[in-house]
Amino acid sequence: MNTKIWLSSPHMSGKEQYYVKEAFDTNWVAPLGPNVNGFENDLKQYLDQNIYVAALVSGTAALHLGLILLGVEKDDEVICQSKTFSASANPIVYLGATPIFIDSEKDTWNMCPEQLEIAIKDRISKGKKPKAIVAVHLYGMPYKVDDIRQIANKYDIPILEDSAESLGSTYKNQKCGTFGDLAILSFNGNKIITTSGGGALVTNTKILKEKAVFLSTQARDNAPHYQHSEIGYNYRMSNIVAGIGRGQMTILDSHVNKRRSNHEFYKEVLSQISEIRFLEEPTEMFSNRWLTCIQLPSYKIREELREFLLKDNIESRPVWKPMHLQPIFKDTPSYINGISEDLFNKGLCLPSGSNLTENELNRVVFGIKTYFAEC
Ligand SMILES: *Cc1c(COP(=O)(O)O)cnc(C)c1O
Repeated sequence: MNTKIWLSSPHMSGKEQYYVKEAFDTNWVAPLGPNVNGFENDLKQYLDQNIYVAALVSGTAALHLGLILLGVEKDDEVICQSKTFSASANPIVYLGATPIFIDSEKDTWNMCPEQLEIAIKDRISKGKKPKAIVAVHLYGMPYKVDDIRQIANKYDIPILEDSAESLGSTYKNQKCGTFGDLAILSFNGNKIITTSGGGALVTNTKILKEKAVFLSTQARDNAPHYQHSEIGYNYRMSNIVAGIGRGQMTILDSHVNKRRSNHEFYKEVLSQISEIRFLEEPTEMFSNRWLTCIQLPSYKIREELREFLLKDNIESRPVWKPMHLQPIFKDTPSYINGISEDLFNKGLCLPSGSNLTENELNRVVFGIKTYFAEC
């Protein structure tokens, strides 16, 4: 059996262990310490001097705190991109609020501005103005930032930008993760950089960052005894994990370059096959190409190809199943144009890790070419 080719696997720089060892040597084995501050500062330098970063245990935790900071409460409604990973939507439910799902547009696969405005108007006419908009840059491709922002401003609704998959991507030369009223990042095992598990909340003000840190460390009031005036969470990133993050920041740009070159390679070699289509990068957008996704003619071909690759120990994955099609969200209000369902039926993510070898990439395209030659 050939060795396994993963969809997207951790890729270390070699510097991670230095920072982790330093944390042990200095006994900073806690959810605070120099690596936490250092990692936050590295992210700030990378994204934008004018933002603030709170390092947390996961992207999901960051979304949860982000919604709290935006004032989302029980019985509120929160707009959320339907085509995404469930973690974009779940924290809305943690708070007892209701997600309102919005379908995709074709250019970026992200939130459709037309459906967004239809939904906002309809929710207002039904008596509730949505409290926030969770917009996602899926697979590293930015959403239509200006269009979504214009609508959000028109109705005065804040945006929580889910940048979990798009660290290193830009829109009009501005980094993803800096467009929302708040934004989140993820450093889970398969993301563009990883801390084994981790996330961050990005804010525009120091006060909001401090509030996020306060909530993430059990909401302790400033008193010598343990005193609480608010409900807290245990969401702060540990100094060990942040050490991995500092090492990973040294190779973030090279990971982006490698993932983009994977994408270019697939496009070049597979463009001969007329059944396969790629998502083009719109002008003014720069995708980190976290995962390369292809569109196939049908669900049947998508599944056959996926299973064909699996026989050669190659992992590929259907694109995210939209939230409005998930059993748990079947009764949730949704504003649908059919695009995300079609993308789900026909879309396949190919192995895209920054540590893929030339040999592995060749094996993947050989498998795909063989499938189409045989069928
Ligand atoms: C990974 C991911 C998250 C959640 O991040 P975790 O760090 O795994 O909790 C949220 N949204 C999207 C779009 C993601 O891909």
